[in-house]
Amino acid sequence: MNASIRTALQSFAINQALRYVEGDPEENIPKLMSMVDSVVPKDWYASQRAAIRKTIAEKDNWYQLILRLYELDPGVRKAFFQNFIFNASLNGSAIQEEISAKEDCNIPWAVLLDPTSACNMHCTGCWAAEYGHQLNLSLADIDSIITQGKKLGTYMYIYTGGEPLVRKADLIRICEMHPDCEFLAFTNGTLIDEAFCQEMLRVKNFVPAISLEGFEEANDSRRGQGVYKKVHEAMALMKAHKLPFGISTCYTSKNVDDVSSEKYFDQLIEAGAFFVWFFHYMPVGNDAATELLPTPEQRMKMYDAIRAFRSSKAIFSMDFQNDAEYVGGCIAGGRRYLHINAKGDVEPCVFIHYSNVNIHDVSLLDALKSPIFMAYHRGQPFNDNMLRPCPMLENPEILPRMVAETGAVNTDYQSPESAEHLCAKTTAYAENWTPTAEQTWTENRSRKS
Ligand code: SF4
Repeated sequence: MNASIRTALQSFAINQALRYVEGDPEENIPKLMSMVDSVVPKDWYASQRAAIRKTIAEKDNWYQLILRLYELDPGVRKAFFQNFIFNASLNGSAIQEEISAKEDCNIPWAVLLDPTSACNMHCTGCWAAEYGHQLNLSLADIDSIITQGKKLGTYMYIYTGGEPLVRKADLIRICEMHPDCEFLAFTNGTLIDEAFCQEMLRVKNFVPAISLEGFEEANDSRRGQGVYKKVHEAMALMKAHKLPFGISTCYTSKNVDDVSSEKYFDQLIEAGAFFVWFFHYMPVGNDAATELLPTPEQRMKMYDAIRAFRSSKAIFSMDFQNDAEYVGGCIAGGRRYLHINAKGDVEPCVFIHYSNVNIHDVSLLDALKSPIFMAYHRGQPFNDNMLRPCPMLENPEILPRMVAETGAVNTDYQSPESAEHLCAKTTAYAENWTPTAEQTWTENRSRKS
């Protein structure tokens, strides 16, 4: 059976199953599993089916999370399943793989883009502050990127910035223009109000991920007085409107204890968040505060906490740095994603501000074939140890070499930073982290074998 027919059949079967569950999730999820077990061969996805049966029987945290999805607005839930599961993940991934093989370059699952470099706040350690403050991708630019992306099988678009919601009206317009895509926005949350909740309910395919850096004191010391309260008001508003949202948290040497605590996870669940996405602090930019880099012990504290809470709390938690083992290492350079800044420079990663091309001059596919993207394509994974995935943070000798060989230029126009300067800040960090990373990776391997 060819891949597209298989994908269409899988989509149809899953769609039918979802429709069945919709009627009464608590009653119908176990029944559906029994039906599946009675009709498929015993060895078909045996371990995955066993894990699902266990989840249902024990009504564990994953089961609770699934039930929470059924508390959402039905139209928003349906759009999420259609756009995220079918279009972006099932159908989209099959197209991405096919084009990647044909074109011999990476094709991304997601495109990250900055609608604007403008922001209503000035947070310590935010990469957006490095770009300057008057740049925008026009509505036509964003539409063109998405139209091109869909032809490559990319249906997931994630707004970064700047503060994306400074462009609220345009972002809603884009949701209307591309109802088959799922849009996620990293936002400080302060511009979410009643009117915007109504717009999210109307378009159905827009999910905010609000930045939070810990409890009130830690959060407001980085983001500004009163921001914590505003963010909690925004979360309460979205919860009341049955809208899905997540949290994005940058962990640093200063907030690890707070954000790795059970209290923090419980608070996020209570507030209504469905996912929390953790980012390791990156010392990007000439003014970066290197003292915010976590120690090896602090990074391990995050590693252990996320694994423990992922298997016990009804919230999906991810760690952009420590979860590289689940995605085969570095996902940048279009392997799973790329980043387009507000000026249109196409960069391999939100943290790697070096580029050969601008989206105003080349197609998305040509950008994926530009020198630094091909260096990523050929170099990945950058380390066999998935706890050392990054050519900048854990392998600081690699990025300056790639930048020099490809002639990529720094895209921070206000205060350009060389790759050598950037990676000089991570050299000691990488040396300190290596023994812990090696020991943990070896222990993990032997546990799994
Ligand atoms: S370049 Fe580094 S930070 Fe970016 S995705 Fe790769 S490993 Fe992660």
